[in-house]
Amino acid sequence: MAGTPGITPFTRVDDDVFMTTVDGGVTPLNIGLVVGSRGAVLIDPGPDGGDHDALLAAVRQVTDAELIVVNTHGHGDHIGANAYLREHGVERILAHREAEVATATELVGQAPVVLDLGGPEVVVEHLGRGHTDGDLVVEVSREGHDGIMFCGDLVREGTDPSFRDSHPEEWVRTLGRIWSMAGTCSRIIPGHGQPVDADFVASMRRRMEQGHTLSRQALRDAVTDATKAIPILPYGPEESRELISRLRAGH
Ligand SMILES: [Zn+2]
Repeated sequence: MAGTPGITPFTRVDDDVFMTTVDGGVTPLNIGLVVGSRGAVLIDPGPDGGDHDALLAAVRQVTDAELIVVNTHGHGDHIGANAYLREHGVERILAHREAEVATATELVGQAPVVLDLGGPEVVVEHLGRGHTDGDLVVEVSREGHDGIMFCGDLVREGTDPSFRDSHPEEWVRTLGRIWSMAGTCSRIIPGHGQPVDADFVASMRRRMEQGHTLSRQALRDAVTDATKAIPILPYGPEESRELISRLRAGH
């Protein structure tokens, strides 16, 4: 359909793990697909107004297995296709309980949820707040293969992280947890951008820590106009403004 975000066919990341992208927001959104003999997990099916028929057709080119959807968080570009998928036979949609995803059927809290697909084991887990109140990561492990982790917008490649709904201090800790799991999950797939590795996560964490230090300093030195710090922060002006405003609001 003209004017709707297009879907490209899924490509293989590794064995039974696939991904594709859909136009969404500033940069394309990554959509993940993990396939076992008893089921498949579709991660972040894309925005409202997308060509959902084409998405489902692309999934069915890879697998006929029953689908479970996981939303890494509640932003519209990640969850918009949920309603369509529920109308088309998807019974399970997992999201974090704080993500406010009205179309979810199962809310994930502190306890990880293990999905046995027959083959790959998938663990859906909240490693702490960061990009939003309710971020989940999806860890995929398969015998004889390195693990792969889908991180949603906790990790972002190619463009700055979005701080609009973030908890900046906790985000640094959560990135530390993602980094520490890189021994078992050597490949990390961000919500937007190219797959990355542990070194990338470490440098994203360092840059964010640096951004917090500079922002806090600016808030102390110039309480009324901390936006003066924007040019020295390691992010673009929009993201820097959001970071300062979230820190100022005590997040
Ligand atoms: Zn987001």
